[in-house]
Amino acid sequence: MRLLAAILGLGLLAPAAPAPERAGGPAQLVGRSAEGRPIQALRVGSPRARVRVLVVGSVHGNEPAGRAVVERLRRSRPPRGVALWLVTDLNPDGHAAATRHNARGVDLNRNFPYRWQGGGAPFDTYFPGPAALSEPESRAAAELIERIRPRVTLWYHQALRMVVRSDGDPTLEALLSRRSGLPRRRLPRYHGTAVGWQNHHFPGDSGWVVELPAGPLAAAGVRRQAAATLALARAVAPQPVVERPIPFGAERRRQMRAYARRHYGLDTARLRRPRVIVEHYTATSTIGPVLNTFAANSPDVELGELPGVCTHYVIDTDGTVYRLVPDALMCRHTVGLNWTAIGIEHVGTSDAQVLGNRRQLRASLRLTRMLQGRHGIRDRDVIGHAESLSSPYHRERVARLRSQTHGDLGRASMDRYRRALRRLPAPASMR
Ligand SMILES: [Zn+2]
Repeated sequence: MRLLAAILGLGLLAPAAPAPERAGGPAQLVGRSAEGRPIQALRVGSPRARVRVLVVGSVHGNEPAGRAVVERLRRSRPPRGVALWLVTDLNPDGHAAATRHNARGVDLNRNFPYRWQGGGAPFDTYFPGPAALSEPESRAAAELIERIRPRVTLWYHQALRMVVRSDGDPTLEALLSRRSGLPRRRLPRYHGTAVGWQNHHFPGDSGWVVELPAGPLAAAGVRRQAAATLALARAVAPQPVVERPIPFGAERRRQMRAYARRHYGLDTARLRRPRVIVEHYTATSTIGPVLNTFAANSPDVELGELPGVCTHYVIDTDGTVYRLVPDALMCRHTVGLNWTAIGIEHVGTSDAQVLGNRRQLRASLRLTRMLQGRHGIRDRDVIGHAESLSSPYHRERVARLRSQTHGDLGRASMDRYRRALRRLPAPASMR
């Protein structure tokens, strides 16, 4: 089987027989080269994965070292929620002829439809083709990218030994550089590159060129580059969320809508475009009583109102995240902010306990980043309950409640929390 795959990969056998079934599924034919060789993509990981990472082993036929990295990634296990899409070779004609160009003398990495610029003649080093996407190979790549919308894409080239700086997420770029052992360096802004097109055309998605050293990669180098790719995949993997819905039927929604009218002058129970995330702790040491209280829908002890208090998410001390209420519904967790805030509860009895629990804090930061990315919520609008009164989104029509807040997760704790948050990838990378 391995031999068959190798032959297919070398493009010696065309048309393609289906490649053997692997962890993800059979290789898909995504296009054919100018000379009719198959261009294949292989998915490793679930077809339902929310996040896709694309790796292209070779674009220029005389720069083949990245193919070995892709071969190794075929046998890898991506993190939950992420599928790897692997293209061993986008330029099989160039590979067969050991030329930079495709069979028509085009530099495929100048043929993409962003800042494309014509000129020159076939087999000039950087000949961009007669038009953007004039070549079947670049069209195959563009169509695949449009279809799978990779959150992160790596394109292997040689032999400048660097991660080429791009407009992608700088935190991921730094991670890639660190894990691959290749320094980040800027190159001139070339015309018509695949990465330029991706970063411009798909905001929130990131692509990079990884320039490997000259010659074939040694086994350790292959392992290291594959590990760097998987580190990126882990960095953008969605935080797992366990659905644990509390009863929120018609009656409770009616009560929520009436609450929104009384307190905010809004005639809806729907949370449209949430602008704020409020972090809380439960003041309990286990999750059981929390779930019971939120499910009960009885008037709260403090204000005696309905619906009962609740939260969108609860994070247990072991880092498990439960979703109790959909993001799209208002829920009573913070006076003055329920109209626009998603609530996250942490099982625990103090700020220090929550911030000192690594697993709980890690899950909390990743969940928060993901929600920021999905809803476009700024870092400064991730606040602790104790900061509620200073939020620019705070509003309250009931006079006696205008200065009501709680003591959980105050300013100093949240400054630490927000600093940790900023060390994660950009919200859009984790959406
Ligand atoms: Zn609270």
